[in-house]
Amino acid sequence: MLQQTQVSVVKNYYQNFMRRFPDITTLANAQQDEVLSLWSGLGYYSRARNLHKAARIIRDQHRGDFPATIEELQALPGIGRSTAGAILSLAQQQPAAILDGNVKRVLARCFAITGWPGKSSVLRELWSLSDQLTSTKRPRDYNQAMMDLGATLCSRSKPGCRQCPLQLNCKACLQQQQHLYPGKKTPKKLPHRLIQMLLIRDAAGHILLEKRPQTGVWAGLWSLPEAAAETQAQTACYQLTGIEPQQVLAMEQRRHTFSHFHLHIQPQLLHIAKPAHRVMDSERLVWYKLDQLNSLGIAAPVMRLLKEIGEIT
Ligand code: SF4
Repeated sequence: MLQQTQVSVVKNYYQNFMRRFPDITTLANAQQDEVLSLWSGLGYYSRARNLHKAARIIRDQHRGDFPATIEELQALPGIGRSTAGAILSLAQQQPAAILDGNVKRVLARCFAITGWPGKSSVLRELWSLSDQLTSTKRPRDYNQAMMDLGATLCSRSKPGCRQCPLQLNCKACLQQQQHLYPGKKTPKKLPHRLIQMLLIRDAAGHILLEKRPQTGVWAGLWSLPEAAAETQAQTACYQLTGIEPQQVLAMEQRRHTFSHFHLHIQPQLLHIAKPAHRVMDSERLVWYKLDQLNSLGIAAPVMRLLKEIGEIT
């Protein structure tokens, strides 16, 4: 949960998640929809899907026991080399190296490693340092200390070098060039995409939701049906429901930025006169009662939109 997210944001999510899924088997036995609903709002939903898949693999292939080797851990979805190292060192006191964002920053500064850590040659150099330096006697304390150092004193913009135990050995500090490390990625221009999101509401106040495919953006979450920017919203509504909308209202356009593109959303609010309680032919499209929406995994921008039209209190 803490990847790309701060503790203050995660706290409540973590407690609710652990209350509902206190052990691996409970998580493995849950439906994906429920797991995603407890993740709704945290973003990066692949983490929740991977956690769920990993729990099922541990239940089915490891008899419910958490794997204890780096190879087995890395074979689980969502667990890379650094997370595997963290699990082994923190949970089992094994001398496994880690290299999360905080540790990368500390090492890049201490050893004045130039270049963006996402570049494979720079990453190799940092892994090699982390491997050499990880304590064989107290890997748990060492790794925790490195992560804490990066998260507190060796912060991105204002490192507290005067209080740092490494100040006499840290090359960046000695050269007063902390700001140069780690090197930055050359920013790339993100492409823009425009879509329409259809808020189709029937006479009984049901809203039509669509399940996203299992891959790609918001994979596996519930969202609103979409239409290409050049398609008439009325036509798209008719194609989906077989009913002509009585009223169409174009809402204010908004933008959501993903790591790889900007998504411009043009919401269209469409009212249809008949009540439409039935489940659609396709399992992807379902009319939902409003009080069911909060228990579903719904991407945050879509949930905001639904709240905005007063569908959820
Ligand atoms: Fe970071 Fe400063 Fe410590 Fe170097 S001396 S590791 S730059 S806090």
